Amino acid sequence: MPESDLPIIIIGAGISGLSLAQYLRREKIPYHVFERDPSIDARPGGWGLTLHYGLPALEELLPPELYSRLNETNVNIEAVNDPGRYLFFDLKNGEAKYSLDFPKTGRLRVLRTKLRKLLTTGLDITWSKKLVEVRENPDSVTAIFEDGTTCEGRLIVGCDGSASRVRKYVYPTTYENQTVPVHFVGATVRYTPEQIRPALALDPYFFQGTHPETNVYLYFSVLNTPRNIGNDTDYYVAQAVVTWSYDKNIEIPENDAETVALIKQLTSNWASPFRELIEAIPEDAEIRRIHISDWYPTTSREHERVVVMGDAAHSMTMFRGEGGNNAVVDAHDFAKRVGHLLKQKDVPFEKIAAALRQYDEDILVRGRVSVINSRRACLDAHDYANLTDQSPLVARRVRADCNGTNGTNGN
Ligand SMILES: Cc1cc2nc3c(=O)[nH]c(=O)nc-3n(C[C@H](O)[C@H](O)[C@H](O)COP(=O)(O)OP(=O)(O)OC[C@H]3O[C@@H](n4cnc5c(N)ncnc54)[C@H](O)[C@@H]3O)c2cc1C
Repeated sequence: MPESDLPIIIIGAGISGLSLAQYLRREKIPYHVFERDPSIDARPGGWGLTLHYGLPALEELLPPELYSRLNETNVNIEAVNDPGRYLFFDLKNGEAKYSLDFPKTGRLRVLRTKLRKLLTTGLDITWSKKLVEVRENPDSVTAIFEDGTTCEGRLIVGCDGSASRVRKYVYPTTYENQTVPVHFVGATVRYTPEQIRPALALDPYFFQGTHPETNVYLYFSVLNTPRNIGNDTDYYVAQAVVTWSYDKNIEIPENDAETVALIKQLTSNWASPFRELIEAIPEDAEIRRIHISDWYPTTSREHERVVVMGDAAHSMTMFRGEGGNNAVVDAHDFAKRVGHLLKQKDVPFEKIAAALRQYDEDILVRGRVSVINSRRACLDAHDYANLTDQSPLVARRVRADCNGTNGTNGN
């Protein structure tokens, strides 16, 4: 088979892999997505994502009819004409310490699970395929899966998230994530309209804050409302996240009920309505503990036919909400650098390899700034006394490579 007929192998059906696959499908470039989960619905729950500087990139990657359906994934369809804002509260007195308008690119607050589902439309995806090994051949590359099957491709793009197996293959000595010393507990909670009304009055999508004395941090994010498309319930769903620094020497219990009790205790001195939002969490709520860590490359990529994208290429804390935006922009950078070459027959591989090195540079420059800013944002969230409007926690989200700055001072 000629090399140009071999597929681009995408490992992982997350936001980066699916955005890239949509582009390749549209351009009629052979591709195939392999995902370790058995189906798109395999993992319940999920979280809200703000798409801001990733939106223009997504628009260029997706077929127009799919992009026009993005609003179906909105976490709160009732707020469609309210752009919302970034609000940061003093959780002792309940007052907003910072309020920031959304970036010029606009913003869309989506449920990650719904966005992924929409992005699978029309794609060739094989489920229950966990990549375990990669083999490079003289003129191709082979993905080897846990079930013993293989697939030969032109390139492998590792879109397999922050614990990426592909990253381990291409950065064998430096692939490991670095721990950020903060405990994270997220609860997915059903709220009655009465319970959630005070939160929605603050912002229809999400807000954050820190208690100035305890430095315990809150991130509250609406995930679903009774009026959303396809929802016939009478309750709201939101994610309440409580985080605190390792310095406090308070470990997260393994038991969910004890974890709920702990976060209620840690937040009992918060002002209204923040305290009540945590008090309403039932003992049997769906609890998520996230080990906070980050990574960007510090050595060169070792294999010419294998690259990484999204969290696999630069994983960052969620305190600036930039990981998903970077994931989409990575796919766009790949399309821009490599797409036109993949469309041609008989392009010498050296040309593709050179374009991939430019792609590496694009995502390293942008991703590294985002990782560093997101780490700073995470640490600042737990240091109220030293928090200023220059902190990346509250500063405007700006693409690091677009404004020629470090990406934080776009206010
Ligand atoms: C609570 C929270 C809030 C967030 N908020 C925001 C926000 O507001 N804005 C924002 O931009 N970002 C946000 N993020 C970050 C964002 O969700 C991620 O950066 C983004 O989802 C990464 O996409 P990805 O495609 O790179 O990886 P993932 O979404 O992690 O997808 C990786 C896929 O690869 C699959 N996979 C893994 N290993 C293998 C394997 N060996 N073989 C085959 N398949 C494999 C996985 O099952 C998964 O489907 C948030 C994250 C969290 C946790």
